[in-house]
Order: sequence, then structure tokens, then C-alpha cells
Amino acid sequence: MSIFSHSAYDKHEQVAFYQDAKSGLKAIIAVHNTNLGPSLGGCRMWPYADDGEALEDVLRLSRGMTYKSAMAGLKLGGGKAVIIGDPRKDKTPELLRAMGEFINTLGGRYITAEDSGTSVADMKVIGETTEFVSGLVEGIETGGDPSPSTAYGVFVGLKATARHRWGRDDLQGLKVSIQGVGNVGFRLAKLLKDAGAEIYVTDIFQDNIDRAVNELGATAVGSDEIFDLDVDLFAPCAMGAILNDDTIARLKVGAIAGAANNQLAEERHAAVLREKGILYAPDYVVNAGGIIDVYYQQQGGDYDPLQVKAHIDRIGDTMQEIFERAGETGETTAHVADRIAEERFGHEDAVKKTDTAAA
Ligand code: NAD
Repeated sequence: MSIFSHSAYDKHEQVAFYQDAKSGLKAIIAVHNTNLGPSLGGCRMWPYADDGEALEDVLRLSRGMTYKSAMAGLKLGGGKAVIIGDPRKDKTPELLRAMGEFINTLGGRYITAEDSGTSVADMKVIGETTEFVSGLVEGIETGGDPSPSTAYGVFVGLKATARHRWGRDDLQGLKVSIQGVGNVGFRLAKLLKDAGAEIYVTDIFQDNIDRAVNELGATAVGSDEIFDLDVDLFAPCAMGAILNDDTIARLKVGAIAGAANNQLAEERHAAVLREKGILYAPDYVVNAGGIIDVYYQQQGGDYDPLQVKAHIDRIGDTMQEIFERAGETGETTAHVADRIAEERFGHEDAVKKTDTAAA
């Protein structure tokens, strides 16, 4: 397996591998860029089929964190960690403490937080062996879990998307399909229901579907059927790479805005969506609510939920700017978002473009 020439490497500053035989920990930390501050990103635990899949995931996710934090106006760099293992079977306190020791070896260049497969309780255990952990502030309603803020940010981004696509300020009667009603998807469904939207949900766990149906009156659909629905807006809130040649050909929606990271299977799929007349809200812009929340938790001092909410509300303005620039230049929304983020964190290609423009 190649590392430096890996297709997802993209100028990573550091990639670290760690194995602890006693606890069975096998993990990778990727630090993409620290120009704006220490890298911060969640620690994902997943039963990857092989090391190559884990490496690809951590590289793509950590790069995404650089873009996400820069776009959200945070003084943070981008990084991410993955633990190779099944969170339902392999997670032990020893393994999490070993993960804390691994994080410590990077000396603060990487700060961890919750992600798929890890929880606030897990962060507390990791925090026994490293100080470089966030997302576990005592005394706040969420206990530090970023998911409610992520869901709220997606809701804000989704409203901005509906405004641009259909010129409407309310969501009354808007049909929205949600793939994955877990921590973020379920909360998003609740916000949408309260705003009067009609919700269609799918998940791979029946209990998650039942909760959305019973508590929110959502309509349940099959996990493959979600791509064929005749609805207005699709909110992917499960996993990445779900926007590909096959699924885009099937989608009948007018817009896409959801929480999942790396929704586009390949960059070119942004253009495929545009050609099909589907307005795409770039994932890392829409799902930045959680990192914004974690950033304020990291600042020390008093955590002010209203200040956090006001910052998350700005996702709506950012979306509007992206949609307008894309409309003016003819570029895809994903491309416009990347250029704005790169200008902010100083990607050398963007710096060169700026220099050329100034010359
Ligand atoms: P989660 O694990 O709580 O929820 C994901 C849900 O998707 C689960 O209920 C799972 O059963 C379901 N799912 C998985 N595969 C599926 C499939 N093929 N079809 C239908 N459902 C499927 O995770 P989460 O914290 O809600 O995060 C959801 C997505 O948002 C992830 O991609 C995550 O990386 C991203 N995200 C989360 C946060 C956060 O604060 N939690 C922040 C930014 C981005």
C-alpha cells in the first residue's frame, strides 16, 4: 500500500499508525493541515475490511476537517482518527486508554472528539490518558455531544438551500427524505417535523426507524428505495460516497443537504448533480455545527449556548454566498466552497491563484 502517493494523501502534514498488543488497539491519526491551529476532528471506530480502507477513510475525513473548520471561521486545523474495530464488540476501557496514549504522542497537534462509533462516555475514558480531548464539557445540557449542534446546523443549511432552490422561507409541506436516523438524522427529523416538513426515513437498524415513525410520524422506506423517492430534498445522514453515478441517475429531488461527510463519491459528481438540476449543499459547510460547538467548548471559560447558536446560524449566510458565487461563475457549489476554504487556510494552490490575480 502506498502512502505518500495515495490518491487521498493531498499534502497531509502527518499520518501516524499505532498498535497496542495488550488492548488490541489498531489506529491511525491523520493531521492534514495546522495552518490555522491545532488539528481537531472526531475519532471514528469502525470494522474496516482492511487497513487500506481505514487509511483512505481517515485521510479523506481529516482533509475534510481542514476545509470545514476554515469555512466555519474557526482557528483550527484538520485532523481525524480511526480505530479499526467493531464498536459494538471490540470497545474496552483499555483500548480507549491506549488510544489516549496514542493521541498524547502527537503533543497537541491533534485533539480528538466523538464520531461514529464513539460517545461522550468514551471521550471521558480517553481523557484519562490524554488532555487532548474535547466534547466532554461538564454542566452543559448536551454533556459535550456535538450531534445536536450538527443537526441544528444542517437544519439551517437546509433552509438556506430551500430558500435558494424554491425561493421560500418556510418548510411547510416540503418533502424531505433522510438516510440514517441516528444521532444527527433523528434530531434533524425532529427539527423538520416542527417546521412542518413531511419526512421519509430509512436506516439499517429497525429500532431507529421505529423511533422516527412512532415519535415523529415519519414515513419509513427501504434502505435502497430512498434513492427513488419523489421528494423535494434529500438529506444524507448516514455515510459517505452515497452520491455516485448509480444513485444520482435515480434521484428525483431538487436539492441535497445533509450531515454525512464526503457525500460525493468523486469530485466530478458535483458537476453531474448540477447538470441534472439538483442543487447540492456542500457537506462540510452544512455539517459544521458540531465542530463549531466543540470549538467553543475548547476555548475554556464560560460556554455560552447562545454564542454557539449565533455562530451556527452563519452557516445560512455562507451557503447563500456559495450558491450566489456558483450562479455567477458557473462553477459547482462544491468547487466554490473548496476555493473559499482554501483561501482561508492558505492552500498553496489557492495562494498561487491569489498572487497571480494580484500581479
Ligand atoms: P450515527 O452512527 O449516530 O447515525 C448514522 C445512522 O445511519 C445510524 O442510525 C445507522 O444505522 C444509519 N446507517 C448506516 N448505514 C446506513 C445505510 N446504508 N442506510 C441507511 N442508514 C444507514 O452517526 P451520526 O453521529 O448521526 O452521524 C451521521 C453522519 O453525519 C456521519 O456520516 C457523520 O460522519 C456525519 N457527521 C456527524 C457529526 C456529529 O456531530 N455527530 C458531525 C459532522 C458530520
